Amino acid sequence: MAWDFETDPEFQAKLDWADTFVREEVEPLDLVWEHEQFAPLDGGRRKAVDPLKQQVRDQGLWATHLGPELGGQGYGQLKLALLNEILGRSSWAPVVFGCQAPDTGNAEIIAHYGTEEQKRRYLQPLLDGELFSTYSMTEPQAGADPSEFTTRAVRDGDHYVINGWKYFSSNASTASFLIVMAVTDPDLDTYHRMSMFLVPTDTPGIEIVRNVGLAGEPMNGGSHALIHYQDVRVPAEALLGGEGQAFAIAQTRLGGGRIHHAMRTIGLAQKALDMMCERALSRTTAGSRLSDKQFVQGYIAESYAQLTQFRLFVLNTAWKIDKYNDYKKVRKDIATAKIVMPTVLHDIAWRAMQVHGALGVTNEMPFFRMINGAAVMGLADGPTEVHKVTVAKQVLRDHRPSDDLWPTEWIPRKQAAAREKFAQFLELEVGNL
Ligand SMILES: Cc1cc2nc3c(=O)[nH]c(=O)nc-3n(C[C@H](O)[C@H](O)[C@H](O)COP(=O)(O)OP(=O)(O)OC[C@H]3O[C@@H](n4cnc5c(N)ncnc54)[C@H](O)[C@@H]3O)c2cc1C
Repeated sequence: MAWDFETDPEFQAKLDWADTFVREEVEPLDLVWEHEQFAPLDGGRRKAVDPLKQQVRDQGLWATHLGPELGGQGYGQLKLALLNEILGRSSWAPVVFGCQAPDTGNAEIIAHYGTEEQKRRYLQPLLDGELFSTYSMTEPQAGADPSEFTTRAVRDGDHYVINGWKYFSSNASTASFLIVMAVTDPDLDTYHRMSMFLVPTDTPGIEIVRNVGLAGEPMNGGSHALIHYQDVRVPAEALLGGEGQAFAIAQTRLGGGRIHHAMRTIGLAQKALDMMCERALSRTTAGSRLSDKQFVQGYIAESYAQLTQFRLFVLNTAWKIDKYNDYKKVRKDIATAKIVMPTVLHDIAWRAMQVHGALGVTNEMPFFRMINGAAVMGLADGPTEVHKVTVAKQVLRDHRPSDDLWPTEWIPRKQAAAREKFAQFLELEVGNL
């Protein structure tokens, strides 16, 4: 019977190497070149980062999300989950290991739907970690509901002309190309009216109006762009997967992206729990260590319980993705992980912050950033509420309404049936009295 919770020793050795490597070699990048992980490498950054990437390649851990045909190891999602737990500690780590969002999902799209020329020009450098990409779907007036998107792509001879606005297009100011979702046939239903286009960022008519800073970032800072597409003319080959395919492509791409975020969140939440425990053991107040106070013990126990449940669920989901090799079959579980993820990170980071007292809320500790990150996870790749609706619908699919006024588990009817089933023995009992 195959029901195993152990990592094989060979891969565990790689994970152990990655754990030390990320803590000692990669986390320092977060402190020196904060927010610069998505800028193409140059100067000192290239000199510092290229040798680190080479070490990752030498270990066979570069781009582990990819199959061998695209230069990866074909390790699958379960091994990626175990690695991503380690990478989640650091914002530079996914880039150093060649598996950062949104580029992973964008690479998948081009690999499946790109022309040979697009693959040569964009996919290979993307897989090599030499350039970055943007997924440009959300609009200022609509995010969760794609039927409200209005950006248009109109066919004009051998070209399409794109007009509209996009919002929260992450990394657009440093990306080499954008994958843009636009309405090609407004008369069709939501699932078929939109298409995807691969658009080089330097195409005339693309204006990055400003970056929208997240809380804590400077006004007009950060990396999430408001973009105006004005008469952006692209050749017909820029269309990915055919007209009307955008919704189907988005679902495939976002499925992987969501579970990868969940994997990394395990690592970040574990980091917060580790910090909470260290502080609880280090600080003494009112005659004993914080770790001796029952409230703090409660924080630690609740955090451990939440994190362990989440981790096992994410690993199980990754295992299912490998088993079925079809994101659609695991949609319910991916959406469930997406729902739980912000709460797990928020709760553990918040408790860790509280245990650190005043120091916890300063910019000398990372807790506020983690809590911001938790809030972002409740929105990016779709709001929690929408994923709850998905989960509920999927769960309900496995159930049927009662064909009677009373529920199936209504005790009086079941009891009557049980009594009838054992009637002869019940009669015997009465007879024996
Ligand atoms: C940090 C960050 C990075 C992002 N990166 C990208 C990116 O690279 N590319 C991109 O295209 N987009 C990106 N997004 C946008 C993200 O996908 C959207 O924010 C998300 O889809 C929600 O859309 P919205 O913000 O317009 O919220 P809305 O659609 O206006 O929803 C607002 C709120 O309404 C409620 N709600 C919405 N729909 C329902 C429903 N059906 N049932 C019940 N309640 C509902 C929820 O509470 C929801 O939070 C990013 C967002 C963030 C925060």
